[in-house]
Amino acid sequence: MIEGGCLCGGVRYEISGELLEMCFCHCQMCRRVHGAPFGSYGAIRPEQRRYTRGEELIAEYQSSKDAVRTFCSRCGSKLAFQNSQTPDEIWIPAGTFDGDPGIRPTYHIFVDSKAPWFEITDDLKQHSEEPE
Ligand SMILES: [Zn+2]
Ligand SMILES: [Zn+2]
Repeated sequence: MIEGGCLCGGVRYEISGELLEMCFCHCQMCRRVHGAPFGSYGAIRPEQRRYTRGEELIAEYQSSKDAVRTFCSRCGSKLAFQNSQTPDEIWIPAGTFDGDPGIRPTYHIFVDSKAPWFEITDDLKQHSEEPE
C-alpha cells in the first residue's frame, strides 16, 4: 500500500499493490506544472487508486487534446496525469507519495525538451520524446 496526498493535506489517496514503473518527464508542460526542471511519476492502473479524503477539492485541467492533469484546488499540488489514448494507466506525481514507493525511476522522457539549465547526471535510459 502506497499512501500520499497534497501539500495542504486536504486530498489523500491510497494505492493498492505495486507501481508499474517510474520515470522522469522533461517536457515543457510537466516542467511548468511542477515548477521544476522535470516531473517524476509513478504509473498505476486506474483501479489501484482510491481517494480517502478531499475528493471535493480535486480539480482538473485539460492540458492538451488527450491529457488531463488533476490537482488540489486549495494548494495546487499535482495529483495525476491521464492520457485518454492510454486509459489503462494513470501517472501519479511521485513527490506526493508519503514514503518509499518501493521501486525506482528507470528512464527519462522528452529529453529533447529538457530545461537548458538542468543537466542529467544519472545513467538511466533517455528517450528524446515518448518511448514506443
Ligand atoms: Zn491540497
Ligand atoms: Zn511531460
